[in-house]
Amino acid sequence: MSKHTIVLGAGMVGVSVAWHLARRGRKVLLIDRREPGLETSFGNAGIIQREAFAPYPFPRDFKTILTVLPNRRIDIRYRPTGMVKAVGPLFQYWLNSFPERYRRIVPEYASIISMSTDEHDPMIQAAGAEDLVQKEGWLQLFRTRAGMAEGLEHGEESSSYGVQWDALDRPALESIQPGLSTAIIGAIHWQNSWTVASPGELVSRFANHAKTLGAEFQQGKLQSMQQQGEGWQVSTDQGNFEAEEVVVALGPWSQEHLAPLGYNFPLFVKRGYHMHYHQPEPQRLKYWIMDTETGFLLEPMKGGIRLTTGAELAKLDAPPAYKQLEAAEKAARELFAIGKRADETPWKGARPCLPDMKPIIGPAHKHKGLWLAFGHGHQGFTLGPPTGRLLAEQMDGEPTAIDVRPFRADRFG
Ligand SMILES: Cc1cc2nc3c(=O)[nH]c(=O)nc-3n(C[C@H](O)[C@H](O)[C@H](O)COP(=O)(O)OP(=O)(O)OC[C@H]3O[C@@H](n4cnc5c(N)ncnc54)[C@H](O)[C@@H]3O)c2cc1C
Repeated sequence: MSKHTIVLGAGMVGVSVAWHLARRGRKVLLIDRREPGLETSFGNAGIIQREAFAPYPFPRDFKTILTVLPNRRIDIRYRPTGMVKAVGPLFQYWLNSFPERYRRIVPEYASIISMSTDEHDPMIQAAGAEDLVQKEGWLQLFRTRAGMAEGLEHGEESSSYGVQWDALDRPALESIQPGLSTAIIGAIHWQNSWTVASPGELVSRFANHAKTLGAEFQQGKLQSMQQQGEGWQVSTDQGNFEAEEVVVALGPWSQEHLAPLGYNFPLFVKRGYHMHYHQPEPQRLKYWIMDTETGFLLEPMKGGIRLTTGAELAKLDAPPAYKQLEAAEKAARELFAIGKRADETPWKGARPCLPDMKPIIGPAHKHKGLWLAFGHGHQGFTLGPPTGRLLAEQMDGEPTAIDVRPFRADRFG
């Protein structure tokens, strides 16, 4: 029988869940305080990261930690208040990054990453969004031999997880992406990853297609959710809504709405910023590029070249601090001749992270009819569609495409 289901949060994750449930004939109500795809899923780098078989570990060697401490690096910054707030999760993250634990996490993470392009594909086609997607991979650039050697080692390991890649020396790189600083000595071309020229628009098109499958969308700010008899009542500033089952896909805001129900998931955030720049003429940026050793990306988006920053460990609601973006912009101008700024103010967002680097995708263990899909960290744009499929399979009591035990909520007690 078709169950009435409310999905809370219309980012890439919630929209993908709604899409899958609607396709299976469920009566779906998707709720968000904004239109779909306007928060974290809007401002990211837009890479469907088929290559990301290994999640980002906490830096473990003493030398790296010492270089982070002065807070001047471009790839990572921190604010003391943010560190204090997240001290427990960050300590767990550090422990999970020990080689022995990390080695167990990588194949689990790789199993869901391996579904990424295959699961995006039918959604992109159904939504008629092929015009937003480029299937030519992206370029990870290196400035030093040591960096490139590390990259190549990572590449070798990635092959066993179905990642396709190629090593490019400087002339080979120049032939596909001219105009890069001479400081760049070579690159890895991650070939079977895809790039999206307007990430928020892709989410919005997926949401529109979910509507054609029967899903309804309600704009409203969630206030609370409570179990009511066999089902659930969701209260928003636009009224109350009832359903048999509820899915929480509120990205970085998930834990604050689950706390009143007695959950204490160690969710923390790594914030990031973006700014757009005018494309320079005649030398245009064609590929998504990462300046690996400096720690930022440049992406030729619809709205101009987007610069996205690395991680800022700060409280979710702390005011923005633009020094990291400014430092990245300075380095970006030396890397490639980007034009003038095209946005009035920088965009700020927050990657929703869990200490074992894996998302939660499955039932909430203390309540019947409550399902969870959040904590996708650095790769939620990539992992939305696989999450949608895996959650829908679990909700319908079917065998899942991959083993979902590594993503269970009760691993956090
Ligand atoms: C700078 C940067 C670059 C990134 N680059 C990439 C990349 O290239 N590839 C990749 O795979 N990932 C990338 N990511 C990570 C990715 O963007 C996130 O993991 C992903 O967007 C999370 O999706 P989500 O649906 O869980 O959260 P969101 O997109 O944030 O969706 C959560 C939704 O919940 C809604 N919400 C919150 N509170 C309420 C409330 N009270 N009532 C109603 N609705 C509410 C919000 O409005 C929002 O729409 C990047 C992130 C950043 C910051």
